[in-house]
Amino acid sequence: MSHSLIQDIVIVGGGTAGWMTAAALSTVLRGRYRIRVVESDEIGTVGVGEATIPMIQRFNRVVGIDENEFMRETQGTFKLGIEFVNWGRMGERYMHGFGKLGQDLWTVQFEQYWHRMRALGRAQPLEQYSITRMAALANKFMPPRMDLGSSPLADIAYAYHFDASLYARYLRGLSEQRGVLRTEGKITHATRRGEGANAGHVDAVVLESGERVTGDLFIDCSGFRGLLIEQTLQTGFEDWSHWLPCDRALAVPCESVTPLTPYTRSTAHRAGWQWRIPLQHRIGNGHVYCSGHISDDEAAATLLANLDGKALADPRPIRFKTGMRRKAWNENVIAIGLASGFLEPLESTSIHLIQAAVQQLIEFFPDRGFSADDVNEFNRHSRFHWERIRDFIILHYHLNQRDDSAFWQACAHMAVPDALQEKLDLYRSHGRVVRRDNELFAEVGWIQVMEGQNLVPQRHHPLAELQDEQATADYLESVREVIAKCVDFMPDHAAYIAQHCAAK
Ligand code: FAD
Repeated sequence: MSHSLIQDIVIVGGGTAGWMTAAALSTVLRGRYRIRVVESDEIGTVGVGEATIPMIQRFNRVVGIDENEFMRETQGTFKLGIEFVNWGRMGERYMHGFGKLGQDLWTVQFEQYWHRMRALGRAQPLEQYSITRMAALANKFMPPRMDLGSSPLADIAYAYHFDASLYARYLRGLSEQRGVLRTEGKITHATRRGEGANAGHVDAVVLESGERVTGDLFIDCSGFRGLLIEQTLQTGFEDWSHWLPCDRALAVPCESVTPLTPYTRSTAHRAGWQWRIPLQHRIGNGHVYCSGHISDDEAAATLLANLDGKALADPRPIRFKTGMRRKAWNENVIAIGLASGFLEPLESTSIHLIQAAVQQLIEFFPDRGFSADDVNEFNRHSRFHWERIRDFIILHYHLNQRDDSAFWQACAHMAVPDALQEKLDLYRSHGRVVRRDNELFAEVGWIQVMEGQNLVPQRHHPLAELQDEQATADYLESVREVIAKCVDFMPDHAAYIAQHCAAK
């Protein structure tokens, strides 16, 4: 591999991926490298991607973002979890909330005592043992109060909803303040060192105006088209649509309604599902669906019939294929965001995958040229995370008991990836979930979806039997009561925003 000094970093694309990358690199690299973002106003951005998971707080900390300012500038709201409607059976709902369940006390995890008490008819629904779930259902919000020691109020995990275009604009302002340069223009093609079979690194992107933007390291944030990673380097795409067959979405904003809910909602329809993301100035909605099972017209009609407020525009179509690039890092190009692949937004993981890729890039930041070992490790790490998130998303589809459409029947009967099958088998036998190698979703996430979609384990952990039955029931009840009192104490979500971070 080449050993020339890296000085110029070119980020192709100025959507969420491009500007998140620019903001993080300009902060971390402290002006020692030239960073340029090339974006095209004419092409624009995908314009969706408005719900996040709590890890984004880490990104904000690294980049030095003030939470209240960020919420004001992006019309943001707080998010405590996702409510899933109709995913197990029609008419059912459950909350996948952030943060922990219960309070660890004895030998095994909280949920094992809950499994035991549930089998004895002495437990309440799982969500009653979690502060984020109960607060979400009561439309309450406050950030954790670290001064409150072991109270659940000191342990409130949360994320954000924000307007995607305002978020990119906000990050652009921040990046430009830190020295990032921006070129507006449409790229027609890229050039590479060497020719034909010997073609190697990308050395420039060429704009419609004829301008050549040269660089040593290129970050491809050009969205679905994958301008460098695919169109130039032909890296290849691994198609996962046999597990995740939805291939289209329609997005539409609607007027806000009260109450201002601190959670995303996902409602399963006949051949897909609909998101609802509440912002300060509007609600973002979209219908993700499988074109082999439902027409575009029916998908649009379903979306519009299920809005809480008046539609503010016509539904905007988006097409995609689920899967990932065979390599996220190829030659001197690293694909981040939609250029690196697509997993549908059921668990709001795409923006997190951007953040994780930027974090990995920082970890393996090249100095003199590119080491094959670093590139391979980057790609191995990124594949692992994509595959584990993929499995978690497949879980929602596979674990349904709906008999009202061929789409849901097919999902219920499909063969799933081995790693997912192992997780299902393990849970079915003893209610255990094992988190491998720091995969994104922890035990608590898997348990909520499996329980929420009616997978009841045959047995529980034998050590949960060692505690006295009455003492266990009292312990569960005390956890529930403390959480209920804490939720009473919390302010209303809309009132919290009005006081701290309402958009002007
Ligand atoms: P884009 O926004 O498409 O940006 C591409 C950029 O490249 C643009 O600036 C464009 O102008 C530029 N560009 C492209 N070609 C050229 C060219 N030839 N010359 C110059 N510039 C060019 N993620 C979440 O985390 N949560 C969600 O709730 C969520 N919901 C989603 C819903 C849907 C239906 C979809 C499709 C995605 C969703 N995502 C979500 C994913 C999220 O939208 C993306 O991860 C995020 O917006 C990043 O997009 P991007 O920056 O990679 O691409």
